[in-house]
Amino acid sequence: MAGLNKNNSAVKRIMQEARELANDPSPEYSAAPLEDDIFEWHCTLRGPAGTEFEGGLYHFRILLPAEYPFRPPSIMMLTPSGRFETDTKICISFTSYHEELWQPAWGVRTAIIGLQGFFPLKGKAAVGIGSIEHPVVERKRLAQLSRSWTCPVCNEPNLALLPDPPGPNSVDGGRTLSSPSTTEKPAPPEPLAPVSAPVAIPDGVAPPAPDLVAAPQVINAPRMQTLQVKQPQRPPILLDTAICLILVLACGIVFRRMF
Ligand SMILES: [Zn+2]
Repeated sequence: MAGLNKNNSAVKRIMQEARELANDPSPEYSAAPLEDDIFEWHCTLRGPAGTEFEGGLYHFRILLPAEYPFRPPSIMMLTPSGRFETDTKICISFTSYHEELWQPAWGVRTAIIGLQGFFPLKGKAAVGIGSIEHPVVERKRLAQLSRSWTCPVCNEPNLALLPDPPGPNSVDGGRTLSSPSTTEKPAPPEPLAPVSAPVAIPDGVAPPAPDLVAAPQVINAPRMQTLQVKQPQRPPILLDTAICLILVLACGIVFRRMF
């Protein structure tokens, strides 16, 4: 970019946008101008969540005209998506196909977000130059393949250019998956409830048996204890009465001798 005329309004504007994107990155996309051509940007965009493109990473070129921002950028998809032709300028409202809809206040970021919004469109809204309508299954297959797709210019796979955010997709995703599993573990006890229910059917046979077994066990223990308590009580009583008898006899003997 050494040969660029930095007084050029388009160059100044583009460099300003590049700085702004670098300072305020988005988890949904990463974009930067090529080192040797500030008018060509390469961007990696995350497929919209909740669509057949979820999990997909799509790499595309953004071509800015010399009159930028007074004329709109062009977009050419590079990664196969089943939604847009590759290596073809895409016809969407903010690209050079619809110059009358472009506003100079918009920027590269606006174009990227707009493109993401065009992914899920179907039917007549999705028709246009560069649009294709592949089956959902094929789009999902391409979404998985897109993660390792490597741009020959950037020379890095999409997943390296736009790693999955740590929150929902990787680390926390595993944690949230594990925590539901722990909450699901208490669920198996519920299946055990139906097992106890069938037990209720043979109530006439099964419950009596445990009752007969359990009851004697419970009753026997206290009985043994009470018996053990009563048995030690008897000897003291006998000793007491014996002592009392001996005392009475002794007193009787003493009284007889005195009188
Ligand atoms: Zn690239």
